Amino acid sequence: MTQAHILNFVAPLQRRPRLARLGDWMARHRRAILAAQWVIVVFYLALVALPAFLPHPHPEARLFSSDFGASSAIDANRCAIGEQSPTDKAAYAACWRDRLVLLAQYLFWGVWWPFVILSVMLMGRVWCGVLCPEGALTEFASRHGRGGHIPKWLRWSGWPVVAFVLTTVYGQLVSVYDYPQAALLILGGSTAAAVAVGWLYGRGKRVWCRYLCPVSGVFALLARLAPIHFHVDRAAWSAHPHRTAAVDCAPLLDVKHLKGGAQCHACGRCSGYRDAVSLAARSPNAEILGTGLGSDKPRSGEAVLLMFGMLGVAIGAFQWTVSPWFVKGKQAAAEWLVAHDILWPLADSPAWWLLTRYPEVGDVFSWLDGAAILAWISIYAMVLGGFAWLMVRAAARLAGVDWRRLALGLVPLAGIGLFLGLSMMSVTHLRAEGVPLGWLPPLRAVLLAIGLLWSTWLGWQLLKVPAGVGAGGAAARRLAHLVWLLPLSAVGAIWWLAFFVW
Ligand code: SF4
Repeated sequence: MTQAHILNFVAPLQRRPRLARLGDWMARHRRAILAAQWVIVVFYLALVALPAFLPHPHPEARLFSSDFGASSAIDANRCAIGEQSPTDKAAYAACWRDRLVLLAQYLFWGVWWPFVILSVMLMGRVWCGVLCPEGALTEFASRHGRGGHIPKWLRWSGWPVVAFVLTTVYGQLVSVYDYPQAALLILGGSTAAAVAVGWLYGRGKRVWCRYLCPVSGVFALLARLAPIHFHVDRAAWSAHPHRTAAVDCAPLLDVKHLKGGAQCHACGRCSGYRDAVSLAARSPNAEILGTGLGSDKPRSGEAVLLMFGMLGVAIGAFQWTVSPWFVKGKQAAAEWLVAHDILWPLADSPAWWLLTRYPEVGDVFSWLDGAAILAWISIYAMVLGGFAWLMVRAAARLAGVDWRRLALGLVPLAGIGLFLGLSMMSVTHLRAEGVPLGWLPPLRAVLLAIGLLWSTWLGWQLLKVPAGVGAGGAAARRLAHLVWLLPLSAVGAIWWLAFFVW
């Protein structure tokens, strides 16, 4: 779609509400958005690639030398501009090199990821459509690639679940949050795959983002909570008197039948199209409850990703580092192995890309470490995810409602949990810098309470017994809600342990 086409279908600005005008602005200013995307691409590549080629930071290195009083004497000395002897100069250069690596880690894991999650919950997938560097690169490759048909295997709806689980688990095994080499391998590998898929399939589309991106499934779930979305007025669409060029929707959506924000990347390209599409406010519960225009029917894959992926695998991945149970279990396994003279599982990892191996900083996983992490995450997925799945199925059956729709009531709790889990990395960095964190426990408790109460309320709404279904009526609904509260309590208790007990 050309600029002329865009200008043609965007309705006169003065007649539209403010939010709709913002969407129209996005449609009119594609070049500005593209320029911002390329700035972020450069920033992202620098954050991911540069630190991987620099030495590991000194164990005493800090990002801020003295502002919070946490800097060691070694670090303060290294970073002070001293006598400028050759030794001083080398220490000074090493100090700033270390700070660069720490800054990249802090920005990438401490700021970037937690706030991307938050942004999707608050603004829909604006991140995907406007800011994501991987999306920009895959679309660029697709515009200049061979433009092949999208194969059937690539459209398989299970990819978002598989990709999310594999990248999350592998990331833990190679300590992706701690080592830039591991981050480059996983994120750089994902970006290279996105470019390759873009080059191979589709014409100027985001085939990677639609079908394969490891976080697309999670973002689709979280975007259902966003209080803004691109609304399509189908009657106005059909009544539009003129022929119009097709919308250039990069994630390949059927825009006319768009019902919500789950799959929409909020890129704004269709804003004003046929006087029917506009950025609009809505209740953050509308898409979960299916009110108003309704929402796309939730699929089993989404419910599985939500319960086994976001509540199971992700929470397990966040918590093994802080759990004393993990340490005790691993020690017991090690003692049992030694007692039975089975020593090979205690051997060191042979390569950093297989299991964490950084002997220069004294961090080397054994095979037992790797197996313990895998077992821990699997137990969380099976026990917590499986329990949530069973309870949701049971509650839905009692009330006679669709279990996939009911499962969506867990999205607020899962989304807030994801934000809290990712922000654990931010907290680690802030703690190392000596930032006072007295405000953190109450903030965590409040966020957790919001997630629990929101999901509790959504469950009650979603368990409305349909007319003519479920003979028990109100009693069945109350009983189903009690069952619904069980997985919520389990998730709340697990987070409570991690934040306030361990
Ligand atoms: S429907 Fe497509 S073109 Fe319209 S805002 Fe969403 S992603 Fe962009």
